[in-house]
Amino acid sequence: MSSIAKQLQVVNSRIAAAAHAAGRDPQEIQLLAVSKFFDISSVLEAVRAGQTAFGENYVQEALDKIDALKLAAPEAVVEWHFIGPIQSNKTRQIAEHFDWVHSVDREKIARRLSEQRPPQLPPLNICLQVNISEEDSKSGLSPDELLPVAQAVAAMPGLRLRGLMAIPAPTEVEEEQRAAFRRLRELSDLLVANGIPCDTLSMGMSADMDAAIAEGATIVRVGTAIFGQRQIKSI
Ligand SMILES: *Cc1c(COP(=O)(O)O)cnc(C)c1O
Repeated sequence: MSSIAKQLQVVNSRIAAAAHAAGRDPQEIQLLAVSKFFDISSVLEAVRAGQTAFGENYVQEALDKIDALKLAAPEAVVEWHFIGPIQSNKTRQIAEHFDWVHSVDREKIARRLSEQRPPQLPPLNICLQVNISEEDSKSGLSPDELLPVAQAVAAMPGLRLRGLMAIPAPTEVEEEQRAAFRRLRELSDLLVANGIPCDTLSMGMSADMDAAIAEGATIVRVGTAIFGQRQIKSI
C-alpha cells in the first residue's frame, strides 16, 4: 500500500474515532483531501485509495491538476473544492471548474460566481468563510456582517448556500480549539433560525480535526496528515 493510502486510512480512522466519541455517525463527516503543493501523482494515489473530494487553494495549480486527472483517470468521479482566497479576476475559472467554494467572504465575489456559473451545471455549493477568531490579518466575514450576506447569497440562482467555513487562530489547547468551532456552529444555528437552511460546517484541519468533529464539523479539510509536509510553508 502507498504511504498516501496508509495515511488516508489513519485519517479515516481518526474521523471515525472522533465521531464515535461525540456520539455521531462517521458518515456525516466528509474528508476533504487538501492537495495544494502536491502534484497529480499524489492526487492519483489518493484517488486509487478511494478518496473522492479534493481541496485546492490556487486556481491555476488546481486547473492543471483537474486536467491532468481527467487524462490519467478519465473514469474517476471526484469533487473539487476551492478553499483559498478569491481574487475577482479568478471567479470565472472557479465558477466553471469547481463543485464547491468554501472561502466566499464578500457579497460581490458571490454575485460574480453566481453570474458566471455555467447554466448547464448544478448550482455551485457555497460556504461563507467567517473570521471566527476576529484576527485582523485573516480573511473572512466578521460574525456581525454574516447574516445579511448569507441572506443575499441564499437568493443567488447560480449558488447553493451550504454553510460556514472557518480557520481559527492556531492553538494547541483543545478547549480553545473547541470554543472557536462552537462559535461557528452557533452562527450556523443562527442562520437556520433565520430561515436560511445550512447543512455544512467546514472546520478542522490536520491539527484540530478531532475538536472540530466534537463540535459538529461535517467537512474536515486535511492536507499534511494525508500527503505529508508541504515544501512551501503556507496555510
Ligand atoms: C492548507 C489548508 C488546509 C489543510 O491544512 P493541513 O494543516 O495541512 O491539514 C485546510 N484548509 C485550508 C483553508 C487550507 O488552506
